[in-house]
This record gives sequence, structure tokens and C-alpha cells, in this order.
Amino acid sequence: MSQTLHGAVGALTVASGLVAAPSDTTLLVEPWKGPHGGVPPFDQVVVAEFQPALEAAMSGYRTEVQTIADNPAGPTFENTLAALERCGRRLDRVRAVYGVWSSTMSTSEFQAVEREMEPRLAAFRDEIYQNERLFKRIEAVYQSPDKTKLTPEQQRLAWLLYTNFVRAGAKLDTSGKARVTAINQRLATLYTSFSQNLLADEEGYPTILTNVADLAGLPESFQAAAAAQAEARGLKGPWAVANTRSSVEPFLTYADRRDLRETVWRNFVSRGDHPGARDNKPLITEILKLRAERAKLLGYPTHAHWRLENSMAQTPERAMALIEAVWPPAIARVKEEVADMQKIADAQGTGIRIEPWDYRYYAEKVRKARYDLDENEIKPYLQLDRLREGMFWAAGRLYGFTFAPVTSVPVYHPDVRVWEVKAADGRHVALFYFDPYARTGKRSGAWMNAYRNQERFDHEITALISNNSNFMKGKAGEPVLVSWEDAKTLFHEFGHALHGLCSDVNYPSLSGTKVPRDYVELPSQINERWLATPEVLNRFALHYRTGQPMPPALVERIKKASRFNQGFATTEFLASALVDMKLHLAGEQAIDPAQFERDALGQARMPSEIVMRHRMPQFAHIFGNEGYSAGYYSYLWADTLTADAAEAFQEAGGLYDREVAARFRKCVLSAGNTVDPAAAYRQFRGRDAGIGALMRDRGFPERGVSQ
Ligand SMILES: [Zn+2]
Repeated sequence: MSQTLHGAVGALTVASGLVAAPSDTTLLVEPWKGPHGGVPPFDQVVVAEFQPALEAAMSGYRTEVQTIADNPAGPTFENTLAALERCGRRLDRVRAVYGVWSSTMSTSEFQAVEREMEPRLAAFRDEIYQNERLFKRIEAVYQSPDKTKLTPEQQRLAWLLYTNFVRAGAKLDTSGKARVTAINQRLATLYTSFSQNLLADEEGYPTILTNVADLAGLPESFQAAAAAQAEARGLKGPWAVANTRSSVEPFLTYADRRDLRETVWRNFVSRGDHPGARDNKPLITEILKLRAERAKLLGYPTHAHWRLENSMAQTPERAMALIEAVWPPAIARVKEEVADMQKIADAQGTGIRIEPWDYRYYAEKVRKARYDLDENEIKPYLQLDRLREGMFWAAGRLYGFTFAPVTSVPVYHPDVRVWEVKAADGRHVALFYFDPYARTGKRSGAWMNAYRNQERFDHEITALISNNSNFMKGKAGEPVLVSWEDAKTLFHEFGHALHGLCSDVNYPSLSGTKVPRDYVELPSQINERWLATPEVLNRFALHYRTGQPMPPALVERIKKASRFNQGFATTEFLASALVDMKLHLAGEQAIDPAQFERDALGQARMPSEIVMRHRMPQFAHIFGNEGYSAGYYSYLWADTLTADAAEAFQEAGGLYDREVAARFRKCVLSAGNTVDPAAAYRQFRGRDAGIGALMRDRGFPERGVSQ
């Protein structure tokens, strides 16, 4: 996932201090001190200061914007759009730190601040977008015949700002604007509650293991992590399985105890779905209704149409067409996978029928039987620290970056480490922050975040990029071993980081990962490919005891098994993408989430052995913020690009081909949103991406598919 801190309606995360800050500002508002243009004062954060800091920053921003709106001189690119890019730097700074606390350092004290401030931040965003004098100036610049004299990047910025304002309601009448603002504030509150409920359920339903028999089948490293988990949380049992993906998935893969697998599975898929004060279902109904109403007000048939307008897919119909093209081969493959698993279960005389809590467990058995591949054989070679060095190394080979650890930069938690990133010529590029481990107060999943984006229109400002994940920390002093899937996630998020690190643009609103959702996953998904290269594995997949590299025969078996279980992976993802899109095409009718989920999956003939990767009550991608709403398909869309781009490397002789890497960097990684993504991709590939490469990649038949 790529996360940006700016809000619902797009790029208003912009520029700097024209007006003196009010005297009551705190450390969070002031320009950051330290090396490389300043770094966030993470070590000096006092939660009680977030609210006054946000208030001071909003007030400063308001004054800056009013100065632009009231400028007696006629509107020009410089005095309006460039000036706007300079505004709001204080708010950017506070929100960068506030966002870290929200996603990784959440406490009840902080959550109270969030509940207070989220609707106020939403209202503030609307206040800017609905500033009529400001919008008139932007419109004048955008529609001026002089626009053609601007650089292509400036023209793109003019288009983007104008479009963002219009899409946020700048052309509505007074009552329409007031209603949009009211909706956005209510949505901000609902998103906050949804996320906080989910976090509470992830922390609230650990499965306690009480005796050694409960551990049957679990790898030693998992047992150690489960013991650490129980101890850290002061739980009664000697071992605990946290109710988060990073603990649940390995448990479901290895635990021999079917009854415990079912318990763990049920806890996990019930997150946000427990009746009572933390039930996310009523929130979903209200969120969907408000989104549908807002879309109508803004002149779109549905929320999906509004959201997809500036995406690569452009329309929900095109996104749905892709989902529907891949769905039939995916569920057909699931049938084959289930049959293979059932055979093993039958041969063992278990008398069971494969259920969702069996899928990962028996898939692992099939993999072992068919490819002689056992996750436990791979894992000792996958040390987190080594793999991290491996992803740095690959980025060095491809893009010339070097990474040197820095200890003088403040961090918010002792687990966080920082590296200085330099270009091949020694020039400072960015700082890279890495926050690897799960802990209380940190949300599930993995994501990239930019504390500061690269820009250069006034002077060069370098990026501060972070990767965040939820690896299970082992015992002190022991290497952290991760699964193959976790290793891919590590490389995935680093792909987003590279998108931020390679950014080479003038204006901050166009920088780095500020591109459409269905394009932003291209750099991340393609970066996963370098993990599986012999160049990385031979150097960095070293056995934690012997230091020996992964044997070539094992590398070969991993390669052979790469299309294994694609039915499961594709179907669990697509089910979520499908439901997300259908929900946001449904219009203003009141939706009962449980009913809708059942009906949508029933119609699609969802295999009963699989659940959605994110069931609705825990689908934070679409209900924790606007983020991926009507946009979860993006991963698949970007994967068509990814598979096709990977073939470009293969056609040229491999993933380390310098010429293709340079072209990928120039056309995709460096360009940010300065170029329309479809055009940027065409520039890289010489043509559009079809669906063929994706189908080949997943081992699905290609016949009869067009995009
Ligand atoms: Zn991602």
C-alpha cells in the first residue's frame, strides 16, 4: 500500500512560510532542524501538542491562501499556482508527524485527538477548496490562452489544481458547498471510528495457546514470536497468536490443530464485525450513503465514477471489465487447487471437507508434494536484515543508489532505523526510515509514507521516505526470519520508496507517489521481481546458522512453484475488488453490509473455501479513509502494467538490463504526476499494456481475453 497524508480530494499538500507563524506555535509547526533541510523532531513529540499545532498550522495556511486570493494583481501562474504550492508547509510538517502517530503510535490519548481533529481537518480542506476568489484565479490561469507558454509540467499542475478544485465542489452553489462540507466532516469522523474499532479488535482477540500440544506443526520461530507476544502483552497463556495478518497467516499455514485454526480464522475474519459499540457495519452503511450523495451533488452518477475519473482506468466499467476477465480463470483454478488439497486430506483419512481455515494449511502440503518445496526450508535463508541489504543492493545495481546508516537522526521508536540515500555521483538524495516490527498501537499491513516529498521549483528540497511493516520480532539477539510472502512485501514497499527516492520534479503536488492509485502500484509490484533473482538470493538469502547461500536447486524449485496457489491469491483479492466496486456503484440505497457481501459473492459464485482478503467490516483500504475506495482493483490494474513491464526487461535480457532500467526510471519512477500515466507508460514500453502478460504471469489461459 502507498499512503499519502493529504486528504480526500487530492493534492493540496503544499508549500512554505510567507507569513510569520502565530506566536503560540509548538515545535511541531516550526521548520525542522538538523541535516538535509531538517528532519522531523520525532524524539520530542508530546501528544497534547498535536491539537494546538494543527490549529496554528491551519490558521497560518488560511492567512497564506487569503493573501493569494486577495492579491490585487491579475492572476498568473507565479502569483497563484506557484504561490499556492508554497503554502501550508507548517500543516504539512505537523501532519507528517501526526500521521506517524495515527498509524504506528496510536494510544487512547492520541485517538481522542484524532476524533477531535479529523472532522476539523476535513472542514479546513473544504474551506480552501471552496474559497471562491482563489478558485476564480486558478480557473483564470487554467483557461488563459497564455497557458501554452507554460512548461508542460506547469500546464499539468494547472490542470491538476483546477480539476481537484472542481472535483471537490468549487463550482457548487452555497448550499451545495455547505452540504459537501458537512458530508466530508461526518465521513472523517466515520473513517476514524472505523479504523479505531478495527485496531481495537486486532488487539482485543488474541488466541491464547495453553499447552505444548497446541503448538503442533508450528515452526520454532513462530513459537518464539508467540511466546514474545504473550509476554509483551502480559497475557495468561505462555503463547498468544495476535489477531493480525502477520500472525494469523503463518498460524493458518502450519498449525496441525484444526480446531485452533478455525478459532484463529474466525477471530480474524470477524474483526469489526462484532455486535456492540465497535461494530463497523452501521458505519459502512452511513459511509456508503454519504459518498453516494456527495457524488450526485458533484455531478457524477456514483462514487465510483467520481473516484475513477482521473485514474488510468477512467471509468468503473473498464475496471470491472478487467476484474471480470480475470475472475473466471481464477475461480476455475481454485476448483483444481481444492481438489488437490482434498486428495491429500482424504489420503490422510481425515474425513474433512476443505474449509477456509484449511486452505493455507493444505496448500502448503500440496506445494510440498508437488514442488518438494517447504516454507520451513526457505525461511532460514530469509533473514530480514540481509534481505533489506539485498533490496538496497538491487536498487544500487538498477538506479545507482547507495545506502549508509545514520544514527544522528531522531526516531519515534527504538525499532526505527534511518539510512542516508546517495546517488551514484555522491549527491545526497533522501533519508530512508524503516519501521519493521508489529507492536501495540500500530495498524496492520505494510505501507510507504513520505514525510517530505522531493521538489525543486524554489530550491531543491530532498525527500524523507519511510517504509512500515508488521514483521514479528523474535527473541532479542536472534535474527528475524520472514516468510517468502513477507519478503515480497518488503520489496513491494521498497518499490514505493524508490518511486519517492527517484522523484525528479519541480512542484510538490506532482512529486513521487502522488499519481493515480491504479498506477502507483506499478513501481511497487515490479520491485517484488528482484527478490527472486539469483543475483539477490545468492548474495543475501544466507542461512542464518551456516551463512551459506540458498542452494541453486532450492532457488530453482522456488521459481518452478511461483505460479502455485494463484487461484487462491487471485480470488481472495478479486473478491474484495469486486465487492468494493459494486458497493460504490450501488447509488444512494441503504446498504446492509452483511447482506450485500453475501449477495455479491453469491452472484459471482465465490468458492466457499475462500473468503474475501478484506471482508467489509475490516476493509480499511476503502472505509478507513477515502484511499482505495472504488480503487481496490488498482492492484490488478497495475499488475497488468507490472507483468508487461517485466516482459520488457526479459525481452532485453533480464531484470538487470541497464538500458531498460534507465528508461523505467526516467519514464515512470522519476516523473511523478508530471505526465499522464498512460502516456508515461507508453513512453516506457512504446505501446499500451495488454492483459496477455498478466495472464501468462499467473499461468491462466489467455484465450478470449481482451482489454
Ligand atoms: Zn503498494
